[in-house]
Amino acid sequence: MNFKTSKLLLDPKKIDPEADCIFISHGHTDHLPTSRKKPPRIPPIVCSEATAKIFEERKGYSINHQSSFSNDEFSIVTAPNGHTYDSTVAVITDLETQKRIVYTGDINNENRAYMKGFTPIKCDILIIEGTWGDKNYTFPSFNDQINLARNYVKNELAKGNPVALLGYPLGKSQLLNFSFGDLCENRFSSNSIWKMEQIHKDLGLELFETKNMNSALLEKTSTKKEPWLLFYNHVGRRDVTLRNLKEQYNLKIVGFSGWAKNKEGYKIQMGADEAFTISDHSDYQSLLNIVKASKPERVYTVFGNAKQFARDLQKDGFNATPLEEGQATLESFFN
Ligand SMILES: [Zn+2]
Repeated sequence: MNFKTSKLLLDPKKIDPEADCIFISHGHTDHLPTSRKKPPRIPPIVCSEATAKIFEERKGYSINHQSSFSNDEFSIVTAPNGHTYDSTVAVITDLETQKRIVYTGDINNENRAYMKGFTPIKCDILIIEGTWGDKNYTFPSFNDQINLARNYVKNELAKGNPVALLGYPLGKSQLLNFSFGDLCENRFSSNSIWKMEQIHKDLGLELFETKNMNSALLEKTSTKKEPWLLFYNHVGRRDVTLRNLKEQYNLKIVGFSGWAKNKEGYKIQMGADEAFTISDHSDYQSLLNIVKASKPERVYTVFGNAKQFARDLQKDGFNATPLEEGQATLESFFN
């Protein structure tokens, strides 16, 4: 995002040493720089403490983060966006025009477990994600899905079957740990999920303790006696580890994703016994509601179904344009 003489980058793929400020919304890989090489100079970085810690874990070097930044041309502050623990939107003010620009990163406006949902912010320009920007993706409530899933997991554990809960290591897996951890004391995580658990505990999130399965799970003596719960990556049916565990222990595999909206297809693809529609992103109707409540003059859609979503917003009378991924970081698109 270019101002007269200064440059602000939003979730850039590359840390440009010449930028005046960089904003990072959260620690998912598609919102972090691609390279693990530390740049010669790191501009001021606005992000949350959680994002900075995950950045360090994933990129291999640490960054000094700050919660706001301003110069003569713009100011930037953050607000919670409900996508992953301590993820944020950017609220930018163009100090010359006094226009307010909100960049959402990825958002969820539903209150979920320990996360407060994103509250829309009135703005002149809204840059909003469009992951589920297609009218077919309207989801049931988080709490309803969790309750149904808890019943399923309880039943399987009562039958003596171990259960694997599949979700992305960052975001979904902490929600699954928080929501299901009390159902079984014999808990394991894949290595990447276990690492994220330690980071989130350090940040102050209360999670159930799990054992890293790399070192512990296959101690058959402990696993054969009683059922167990495994927090595992969101992998498909070809995953050899899961297949072996299923064969050996009659493991039940449960997937959690927005894609589970198409339940049977999703279950086949994931090799899952059961699936629940839980997404870290707002569904279509919620995205529409967020745009309406933000009352923007201009809307830019980015990520996922950005094109379809922009077309639908145009029909609703919004001045909406889809952005190519990465464009938000490159172009002076709002001047
Ligand atoms: Zn994300």
